[in-house]
Amino acid sequence: MHAFIGLGSNLDHPSQRLISALWALQRLPGLTLRQHSRLYTSAPVGPQDQPDYVNAVAAVDTSLAPHALLHTLQALELAAGRQRLRHWGERTLDLDILLIDNRAIDSDDLQVPHPQMTRRAFVLLPLLEICPHALLPDGTALSSFLGQVTEQPISPLAELDRNALIE
Ligand code: ATP
Ligand code: CA
Ligand code: CA
Repeated sequence: MHAFIGLGSNLDHPSQRLISALWALQRLPGLTLRQHSRLYTSAPVGPQDQPDYVNAVAAVDTSLAPHALLHTLQALELAAGRQRLRHWGERTLDLDILLIDNRAIDSDDLQVPHPQMTRRAFVLLPLLEICPHALLPDGTALSSFLGQVTEQPISPLAELDRNALIE
């Protein structure tokens, strides 16, 4: 199974948090990190009285079933001290499953493709950086949504080259 995972943080050294999370993904049993984007900095969605985010997208191969992947990512969030403060509020680490192969999943606790991904520059730009021709399960090119997110402030951070952490 091939999956894309969106990473985000805006608390307590966000860039370091994301790099640590990429290392943690790399070390997970049943999961291989194939590619990762650069780190990007973006303005928050939701409450505006919170720090800017650092975001990235990772491409992984995994033998985990979708819900097992979700639970594994949630354990990494908890290990990073994630606390639920307010909806779309600040967090040390957020790991969202964006795409899994060309599957569509709609269960109570897991929707794939991630329902908000096409509306978010901080997902689309890093994802398209590592996979310019990525498609939704219905065959729509994700690049076709770029025109709708041009107003959202986002820029790459210089510190991390693409795939710097791939062993
Ligand atoms: P958003 O989902 O809009 O990005 P968020 O990341 O802040 O918001 P969370 O509080 O991290 O939301 O997650 C809320 C719930 O979303 C989780 O408990 C999880 O069960 C559910 N969820 C549904 N689909 C997904 C997915 N594709 N990836 C991660 N979590 C998902
Ligand atoms: Ca999220
Ligand atoms: Ca989430």
